[in-house]
Amino acid sequence: KKRDDDSHYFDSYAENDIHEIMLKDTQRTVSYARFILSNPAIFKDAVVMDVGCGTGILSMFAAKAGAKKVYAIEASGLASKARENIKNNGLEQIITVIQSKVEDIKVEREVDVVISEWMGYALLYESMLDSVLYARDHFMKEGGLMAPSQTAMKLVGITGERLWKERIDFWQSVYGFNMTAMDKVYYDEGLVEVVDAAEVLTSEAVVRNIDTHTATPKSLDFHSSFTLKAESTGSIRAFLTYFDTFFSPVPGQTFDSVDLSVLPTGLANVEPVAPGVISFTTGPRGKETHWRQVAFLLKTPIELTKGDELRGRFYCRKSSNNSRELDVEIHYEVGGETRVQLFKVR
Ligand code: SAH
Repeated sequence: KKRDDDSHYFDSYAENDIHEIMLKDTQRTVSYARFILSNPAIFKDAVVMDVGCGTGILSMFAAKAGAKKVYAIEASGLASKARENIKNNGLEQIITVIQSKVEDIKVEREVDVVISEWMGYALLYESMLDSVLYARDHFMKEGGLMAPSQTAMKLVGITGERLWKERIDFWQSVYGFNMTAMDKVYYDEGLVEVVDAAEVLTSEAVVRNIDTHTATPKSLDFHSSFTLKAESTGSIRAFLTYFDTFFSPVPGQTFDSVDLSVLPTGLANVEPVAPGVISFTTGPRGKETHWRQVAFLLKTPIELTKGDELRGRFYCRKSSNNSRELDVEIHYEVGGETRVQLFKVR
């Protein structure tokens, strides 16, 4: 990894704002809390490593759940705040803060549980999962547990009505001037936006399931085929990606999907979907999270009739000029021809 990709990255985590936003995202933080605090059998007397501890929140949950030792690793300047937070809560005997990249520390292979909140926009933006896998491979004992245990990247087709109006149509006439020269960039980038569930026109496809116990950095550059079935008739102006996150107390146990139908709206991320399965979605059908969703606007809309199947292939890899960014390529078939569009997520 290039050094300058890193320094900019860690600077972005050195300020309060981002940590405040993450802590106030209850879908996210409450899911971690529920998993850690409701599994004393896992955390009691365990050695835990928190990769990228930020304010120290997950380390403090682990200490509360009975961990005997927690390594709280944080590369950014926020490590000193984590240390202060931990001391102010009387947990400094249990939690040791190490200000370093996890790739540069020396710790025995004695860790029972690796916890981390590594997910980025479109799941893999930031490439932080590579660092978590490094921690797994160097510090976790055989048979140890990863939390979260699984994430799934999802794809749907949306009308993109609102995005199209705000990002494309707007430039048609700006104070009476044609500024359509400005709209091109919105076809080249993933747009981080909250999309209304009513805009979803197709079924959902899983483009990547990641089991954090077995994933390798190489497996995170991937491509996979998808089939989306039109649930109503209309035009699709964008593809939308988001992800589901699962916490299992059993390594290797995997789940299909966050089933929001079993829960009252808004509680999906706070109540387990099945006994022992704590999970949350960042999708349009769940409660809003700070990740929002990532939309890919299409140069040409796709007209679909209810029941039609839209087939394609989704490519995702680390960008060659910045390993923290993603290159996404979507290939899809319309009327026998294959259309291709390239996007950056940055
Ligand atoms: N665990 C905290 C913060 C999550 S954000 C919480 O849940 O609120 C991710 C944090 O990981 C950031 O503070 C970032 O600086 C840190 N981080 C990312 N990659 C890292 C690495 N390789 N080594 C150490 N810290 C890292």
